[in-house]
Amino acid sequence: MKVKTIDGSEIDLKQEILESLKLRLKGPVLTSGDIGFEESRTVWNGMIDKKPAIVVRCLGTADVIACVQFVREHNLLLCIKGGGHNIAGLAVADGALMLDMSLMRGVIVDPQRKIAHAQVGCLLSDVDRETQIYGLAAVLGFVSTTGIVGLTLGGGFGYLTRRWGWTSDNVTGMNVVTADARLVQASSDENPELFWGLRGGGGNFGIVTSIDYRLYPVGPEIVGGMVAWHASEAPKVLELYRKLAEQAPPELTLVALMRPAPPAPWLPKDIHGKPIVGLLACYSGSPDEGDKAVAPIKAFGNPVGDVLIRRPYIQMQTLIDTANPKGRRYYWKSEYLPSIEPALCEKIIEHAAKIPSPHSAIILFQLEGALNHFKEDHSPAGNRDARFVLNIPGSWEKADDDKQNTDWVREAWDDMKSFSTGGNYINFQTEDEGHGRIEAALGKGLQRLSEIKAKWDPQNVLRMNRNIKPA
Ligand SMILES: Cc1cc2nc3c(=O)[nH]c(=O)nc-3n(C[C@H](O)[C@H](O)[C@H](O)COP(=O)(O)OP(=O)(O)OC[C@H]3O[C@@H](n4cnc5c(N)ncnc54)[C@H](O)[C@@H]3O)c2cc1C
Repeated sequence: MKVKTIDGSEIDLKQEILESLKLRLKGPVLTSGDIGFEESRTVWNGMIDKKPAIVVRCLGTADVIACVQFVREHNLLLCIKGGGHNIAGLAVADGALMLDMSLMRGVIVDPQRKIAHAQVGCLLSDVDRETQIYGLAAVLGFVSTTGIVGLTLGGGFGYLTRRWGWTSDNVTGMNVVTADARLVQASSDENPELFWGLRGGGGNFGIVTSIDYRLYPVGPEIVGGMVAWHASEAPKVLELYRKLAEQAPPELTLVALMRPAPPAPWLPKDIHGKPIVGLLACYSGSPDEGDKAVAPIKAFGNPVGDVLIRRPYIQMQTLIDTANPKGRRYYWKSEYLPSIEPALCEKIIEHAAKIPSPHSAIILFQLEGALNHFKEDHSPAGNRDARFVLNIPGSWEKADDDKQNTDWVREAWDDMKSFSTGGNYINFQTEDEGHGRIEAALGKGLQRLSEIKAKWDPQNVLRMNRNIKPA
């Protein structure tokens, strides 16, 4: 079997050597044609079509250690799949040995210490489900099918970020298999420099096998959901968004979006496919306060749909899952914003009117709050001046439509990127974004990250990521 080496050449791996790998493992080893191979090799973004030579579905840390030893013995290219949601498809590489972590989905909650210990194959929904038993929640993202590991290693933000910071600001420890196959712990007490690097610097420094999250009392009931209006009301609705966002307490996170209306049951049939503007809100504090906080949204203008109601937090966490199915073609551009300028709102309306696909959108996520109060070097996720995220998610179905859709995203981004802080979210970067964008995302932390890389992975074994070269 042909397998890629770390230096880009190819070797012929003999069958008996592959068999020797199987003997060292508890989890299954898959190659092309095996049941489950296609599911493992495909990722969320249908634009990515890569084929590893060998997939190992790890069942535990011992499997990870055995694979790293094997890869080092044979000089093989390694890639790692957590939830497979990275838009650039960083989880998968042609000809590589892939660690598929999706069988490692255990979560143990310590309600007294308010810590969740989660294995790295977990999706966000796994952690939410187990923590909500105790009325607790970790700071995670907006789409429950996303993997915890990629999200956390790149920073992470969601409905609780305004209260408690980036996801990575709320990690208390990680178990890590190093590039030379040792198991170590990373926390503020053990290997603190490695711990610093992992909280935003990606999977550059080791293979994380579990993550400990600090938990907070949230739910089980919150006030959340969406109100939508005809796009003709967008100037007034975006102005409302600007005003409400300025005064919103940290418990309230507001997201504004423009897109063609999806065929959702809460929207009337005659609006499906027509342009709408929406406000998505989540008040994660007491429902009584939440009702008051969202009242101005519910009372505004003439909505075409309103599902902003009291609901379980766990349901809120899945609310926009269906808008982001695995396998569609996706291309995004995004920037951090210091504020929402009226001139930006005008551009959003202008570019939303040209959306070529029924699935694409322009979105503003509110971040402002706790993350701005940490020092810039608290973690490499940095960007402590970010108050909003502008995201332009292109989403469509046919390869023939790639150019039209990527052109729309790029044109909208070109026209709006002057509103940026200069920073961007590393986890939203597409395949075609180069080193300059990594520099913009990681800012001043990059030199320190290169030094951590030199110590923990001098041979750059872990290179299928937003790669940081060893200093
Ligand atoms: C629909 C959708 C919604 C999203 N929503 C949000 C959101 O609300 N908030 C937010 O912050 N982000 C969000 N993201 C971005 C998300 O954080 C990134 O896509 C992230 O990379 C996904 O993590 P994953 O584990 O699924 O990724 P994967 O594609 O599996 O992996 C991503 C990277 O992590 C590395 N990696 C995987 N496992 C390990 C490991 N065990 N050790 C070391 N490195 C590893 C891989 O090598 C790869 O480089 C969203 C993405 C999508 C597609």
